[in-house]
Amino acid sequence: MTIAIVGAGLGGLALARVLHVNGIDAVVYERDQSREARGQGGMLDIHSGQRALREAGLIDQFFAIARGEGQDMRLLEPDGTLLLQEDTPDDAPLARPEVDRADLRDLLLDSLPEHTVRWGHAVTSADHGMLRFADGSSATCDLLVGADGAQSRIRPLLTDARPVHLGQNVVEIGIPDIDRTHPDLAAMVGRGNYWVLGNGLSLAAQRNGDGRVRIGLSFYNTAEDWFATSAIPFDDPAAARARLIDLLPGWHPRFTALVAACDDTIVPRPITTLPIGLTWPSTPGVTLVGDAAHLMPPVGEGANMALLDGALLALALAAHPDDVPAAVAEYEREMFERTGTAARESARIQQLLMSPDASRQMLAFFQPA
Ligand SMILES: Cc1cc2nc3c(=O)[nH]c(=O)nc-3n(C[C@H](O)[C@H](O)[C@H](O)COP(=O)(O)OP(=O)(O)OC[C@H]3O[C@@H](n4cnc5c(N)ncnc54)[C@H](O)[C@@H]3O)c2cc1C
Repeated sequence: MTIAIVGAGLGGLALARVLHVNGIDAVVYERDQSREARGQGGMLDIHSGQRALREAGLIDQFFAIARGEGQDMRLLEPDGTLLLQEDTPDDAPLARPEVDRADLRDLLLDSLPEHTVRWGHAVTSADHGMLRFADGSSATCDLLVGADGAQSRIRPLLTDARPVHLGQNVVEIGIPDIDRTHPDLAAMVGRGNYWVLGNGLSLAAQRNGDGRVRIGLSFYNTAEDWFATSAIPFDDPAAARARLIDLLPGWHPRFTALVAACDDTIVPRPITTLPIGLTWPSTPGVTLVGDAAHLMPPVGEGANMALLDGALLALALAAHPDDVPAAVAEYEREMFERTGTAARESARIQQLLMSPDASRQMLAFFQPA
């Protein structure tokens, strides 16, 4: 059996690793030229996905790179009112630790036999059993797994569903080496998550393992073309920061100081999702894991689901080595139910974030009566 996995993200790598642990080979085709080709973004909060890392035989290494103190949280209103502060005790269990996405990906990559990942292989088209790459080469397989994220090239083999804009646009900015460059702001943000919610906007600052504080400014209930009409000059970082501060009218100066302290990396990110509870008729020879299957609002489930998808598909294949269609059908039944539940819960949290009194709603979410 030849298994081809398209995409070396968390879902594809978890699949390849748990297959390897169970004595099954697979090839991962990844469009990036190398593991360092692209920044991997910030921190991930890993909870249910820890089961996948156990199945991968990597849980101890995971705990060694996880940041328990990253679970700290501060929730504020735009006028500066502190609504909630939770500091993680040193001996707290690592229930939802934060981990640097690049560290987690490296852990999985380093656990695979050499040459499992074929870098520089961008899939341009796929048919059942056949993959074509941007460099003109091709490959065949018995099982094709699309682990290629939100804009999956494999998904159309199974469903016509496409990601749709969620009414949220995020501008990603950040402060490098904050302890040295801005110790006052470093103390304000703390060791974990720092959230300011209100007026259809949010500022989510998060300390990363490398000393950078990453900040996402979210503009809720905004249209797909909002970046084109927002007058944020992305090609002029200083002017873009000034415009972002204008877009936070009435916000306490300590929050606008965070924006002013950012460096010149300013990334616009429109947020899209797939329909909640998306399914498809099981089709021999092809399936999906991760965002390719169930892209959700970014509220902390996607990476966990991608890791679990990969591990559970691998376990199903190991349990039915002579019946791949049965393994795929078993995996999809469980995956549709699990990720449908996660998508519904993510949509509920997203509704709270998009509501006019988001800060109070989220306070009630974190501290139910
Ligand atoms: C800002 C932000 C914060 C988040 N925070 C969290 C969090 O705290 N917790 C959480 O659980 N989730 C979080 N998520 C969601 C999480 O990042 C995703 O759900 C997860 O990374 C999905 O993994 P994946 O393997 O399915 O896809 P990806 O990580 O997107 O990997 C897909 C891979 O496929 C490759 N690829 C794409 N197209 C092709 C092609 N044509 N040919 C070959 N290769 C291709 C890509 O280069 C990439 O390496 C967050 C998301 C965002 C945007």
